[in-house]
Amino acid sequence: MDYLGYEFKNLVDGRLCGAVRGGVMDIINPADNKVIAKVPRCTTEDVDLAAAAAKKARQAWKDTYIGDRADLLMKLADIIRKNFDELADMETAQYGGPLSKTRNFDIPAAIGEIEFMAGIGRSVTGTTISADPAARVMTFREPLGVVGLITPWNFPLVTAVSKLAPALITGNTCILKPPSCAPLTVLKLAEYAVEAGFPEGVINIITGPGSEVGEALVNHPDVNKISFTGDSHVGKRIMKLASAYVKPVASELGGKNAMIVLSDAEIDSVVEAAVYSAFFNSGQNCGSPSRFFVQAGIYEEFVDRFVAAARKIVVGNPMDPETMMGPLAYMGCKDTTERFIEQAKKSGSRLLLGEPVAPELCAGAYVMPTIFEAYDATQDLMQEEIFAPVVGIMKIDTPDDAVRLVNDCRYGLCASVWSRDFRLALKIIDRLEVGTAWVNQHLKIVPETPWGGCKESGWTKENSVLVFDEYTFHKHIWLNLDEHPHTFWEGKIT
Ligand code: NDP
Repeated sequence: MDYLGYEFKNLVDGRLCGAVRGGVMDIINPADNKVIAKVPRCTTEDVDLAAAAAKKARQAWKDTYIGDRADLLMKLADIIRKNFDELADMETAQYGGPLSKTRNFDIPAAIGEIEFMAGIGRSVTGTTISADPAARVMTFREPLGVVGLITPWNFPLVTAVSKLAPALITGNTCILKPPSCAPLTVLKLAEYAVEAGFPEGVINIITGPGSEVGEALVNHPDVNKISFTGDSHVGKRIMKLASAYVKPVASELGGKNAMIVLSDAEIDSVVEAAVYSAFFNSGQNCGSPSRFFVQAGIYEEFVDRFVAAARKIVVGNPMDPETMMGPLAYMGCKDTTERFIEQAKKSGSRLLLGEPVAPELCAGAYVMPTIFEAYDATQDLMQEEIFAPVVGIMKIDTPDDAVRLVNDCRYGLCASVWSRDFRLALKIIDRLEVGTAWVNQHLKIVPETPWGGCKESGWTKENSVLVFDEYTFHKHIWLNLDEHPHTFWEGKIT
């Protein structure tokens, strides 16, 4: 399937348009490495136009009744629902997430996220403060103004709307820059925004390289905040640039997530959850576990069953509804992963699973499920984010070992503990340095619950009501009820 006959456009100031300089970029299907579409390749001039449009629109959008803002978001969700199949196919074609995933997760989650934010966003409130009997003191939530949203490719549409919907419902105008390798569904969103009737300049969507268009967005003086999801190195660069303007940056960054399996864990559940959460979407989930700390009493059984279950994953053409794991998002990811696997082998890690890619898949960015036994928790296998279907397993003796090893890492996104003993599990998660900790669960992320990490995974929250803190600030208002304001100079100067 390709979209070469279709002209994808950006959205700037209410107008669907190409890049100012007319440039285009190729979009490549990672399943066969063929070009499937062309999209605008913007430059800093496009960022200037989008920023001017978003700035012009901000006051009127802020002054729009919140119920009307919610109605527009609900219309957007309806249009996505109407185009469900086309969007699921397009998502699969552009980044290789199997159809079973894009149909069952990506598109429903995008709709759910928008509808949740459109609903719950209407209940965002300020506070009243009893600071002085002679005054009424309160805080109002104000939008930040123009926000720049920079998103990755692993869930292109979901990540985009997870930022767009809370930003819009709270009255911000937006400039969204999707990933260069997988922007197609977000460009369809641009068309739907026009169809839904969003006012000019409220939503702007521009495509182009992060190093140029993304950085121009960060550096633009009229963009008041950046919300970024992506790699930790890129996040650090964005924070550094933004600091020149004292511009806040919300950052959802990388992870090296752990699964702690204690000896009393229910083996069937933990094996199924381990295989699913490690290899779903080819391991390209910020929340996927890629290091497993397994207690000695269950270690051999867990390893045998984990490897046997991972062998059953159906790897193949992502357009086939039976496929469980497709290719990685682009050839560069495959090359990096293969180098990582070679290095892990050379360093002495024992390869427990790592079949060769079937000949008919060799043209694509495929990497098979790969499992190593780690010899040391400080080796790259157990410390570096791979963002691919590659995991390391290590034997531990006590729960204290697990806590120490999980925390001995620069990332802090999420972790899970598997045990029948809830008291012990709670004591463990109490000490884990992560933003999300599950007990007997992993990779459960829903709009109602906050998502985000700590340490080099970033300190931001997305989803839930907590996300509104990222897109609003509290304006403090003091209403004096006394005839004269009290000062220490009272009677001396008037
Ligand atoms: P990248 O950081 O490479 O890219 C993310 C976005 O940033 C893209 O739109 C990219 O543009 C843009 N970008 C790249 N360089 C710059 C720059 N210098 N200035 C501004 N923008 C820039 O991440 P990936 O797309 O490769 O996504 C994978 C990463 O995302 C992993 O580390 C993963 O852990 C993380 N992630 C974290 C999540 C979380 O919730 N914590 C959720 C999902 C992913 P372009 O595509 O043009 O390069």
